[in-house]
Amino acid sequence: MKILFASKNKNKFEEIKEIFSDSDFEIIFDDSLEDVVEDRDTIIGNAQKKSEEIFEKHNVPVISDDSGLFVEALNNEPGVKTARYAGETATAEDNIQKLLNNLENEDNRNAFFQTVLYFFDGSNRLDTEGILPGTITTSPRGDNGFGYDPVFEVNGKTLAELSFEEKTKISHRKIATEKMFTLLSETFKE
Ligand code: IMP
Repeated sequence: MKILFASKNKNKFEEIKEIFSDSDFEIIFDDSLEDVVEDRDTIIGNAQKKSEEIFEKHNVPVISDDSGLFVEALNNEPGVKTARYAGETATAEDNIQKLLNNLENEDNRNAFFQTVLYFFDGSNRLDTEGILPGTITTSPRGDNGFGYDPVFEVNGKTLAELSFEEKTKISHRKIATEKMFTLLSETFKE
């Protein structure tokens, strides 16, 4: 079965494709996909909206993903606003700076990433979740990855200090993707 990945983020696509590599599911990337406005107030709401809108336009099975960073000392902000924390046109650096400023003098640095994957083929709806707990550093470290990777620490290293392979082994997206792989295999077994 071919499944369209409803994201233009090649980094995420590579993470997801890897997990489906030896299966009957072929994940397709299309960087000309139209943007879907992420205006729901939950991560799963946005993922569902993306799958439904992309399915309506392309009429093929779709997997979409939506993720957020939840910081304990900030009442779980930025949450659903993670991508645009410092404003609609914010860069990753802007978002990181705002996060570090808001956590200045804060001892509780606990946080987690959440990813929700949502599959929709016009009739079946499947969703899975992956969580990666960690802490927010006081300054950025590392050159790899994207988004908040330079300030999100797990076992003494930021995600930006891990190689692609090391990050992919532990990532919230990987956990959600493995669960989705299991669900899809059960749902579409012959
Ligand atoms: P998205 O919905 O998956 O695009 O995630 C929203 C935002 O969360 C992204 O724009 C990134 O800033 C951040 N984010 C999601 N996943 C990660 C990750 O694995 N590392 C760092 N930042 C991430």
